[in-house]
Amino acid sequence: MALIVQKYGGTSVSNVERINNVADRIISEYKKGNQMVIVVSAMGDSTDKLIDLMNQITSNPDPREADMLLTTGEQVSIALLSMAIQEKGYKAISLTGSQVRIETNDHHNHAEIMKIDNSRINKELAEGKIVVIAGFQGINSHNDFTTLGRGGSDTTAVALAASLKADRCEIYSDVDGIYTTDPRMVTEASKLDFISYEEMLELASLGAKVLHPRSVELAKFYNIKLYIASSFNNQPGTMVGGMDNMEKKRSVTGVTVDKEQVKVTVAKVPDQPGVAGKLFTKLADNNINVDMIIQNLQHNSKNDITFTLHTNDLNKGIKYIEEIAEELGAENVYIDEDVAKVSIVGAGMITTPGTAAKMFNILGENNINIQMISTADIKVSCLIEKKHADLAVKILHEGFELDKIKL
Ligand code: ASP
Ligand code: MG
Repeated sequence: MALIVQKYGGTSVSNVERINNVADRIISEYKKGNQMVIVVSAMGDSTDKLIDLMNQITSNPDPREADMLLTTGEQVSIALLSMAIQEKGYKAISLTGSQVRIETNDHHNHAEIMKIDNSRINKELAEGKIVVIAGFQGINSHNDFTTLGRGGSDTTAVALAASLKADRCEIYSDVDGIYTTDPRMVTEASKLDFISYEEMLELASLGAKVLHPRSVELAKFYNIKLYIASSFNNQPGTMVGGMDNMEKKRSVTGVTVDKEQVKVTVAKVPDQPGVAGKLFTKLADNNINVDMIIQNLQHNSKNDITFTLHTNDLNKGIKYIEEIAEELGAENVYIDEDVAKVSIVGAGMITTPGTAAKMFNILGENNINIQMISTADIKVSCLIEKKHADLAVKILHEGFELDKIKL
């Protein structure tokens, strides 16, 4: 008998037929003698609808009230799924994050899980029930509801798997695994049987929206293998696990693109020690994440400092950028939203020299100008003009022969 944690995303439970389908899938594993702990997201786009309602009332919602509202989405789906299981003749119980006692810190809207109390879950499992738990939510030290950030149900599932020492953690959605790139953009994209945590983390933070990045970090930390598959078919999915299992020869595993980047240039800053420190501290202190950075010396001891931000941070960030630019004596601030970041990711890059050069050559041969470059152990990113983004993904996928990836 195994203890299995399964998570079903919003699309997988978006209507009654799909809820019944999920119930059947859960029951078929339960009938094999397994204990089943299920995490669900809110139905379809119901979280978006709640946010939309909220925005019609206020543009500046009280974070506590926002969480009070958003946690209702998952309360609907857990109750309906439990009823569907019961209707098919099996015992099930739904539990909210507060009933389980998924304890989080106080950061409303992006809380982190501190501790999970297993006792209620274990009691229900011991009674032979399928336990259905609301994803994305917890409770803080004041007994107020918190949420974990958009897409946070994946993180709930992994945290539960860690806390319960589950034998398996399976994440089901409408996507049937991890691909070498977005199959909607490149039809030749291949599905990976296996991907390492490190690669998955890079892909997730670079815009592949399959898994909540924090769930991958958590899985890596607790060494929990994640199985990613579709709830709509029985196609084999992708296993996310430790690097040791990697096919080491694979230098590049995936190509991603992020079109939600803005390029900011603080122009002609006096070339003095401490300038970059002041600029980026100001942004960091105000919770604005900066990604790629370059600085180059212009004439007359003045520098241009160019960096990228996520578009969501632009409105908030611009005020601080202008403030600090003035403080530092910069002459101008330029904003360019017409950019995209295309990246290649692969654990084997560490041992394969020339991977970055090959990427630059492929872009160059196709007349795509590179505006900025950043590299890390297992990824290389280039900032390019937005209109070239789709083409860049396609030619890089082709150039690194990801359609023929051997596992
Ligand atoms: N329902 C929440 C959201 O849409 C959490 C999740 O789906 O994981 O962000
Ligand atoms: Mg959702």
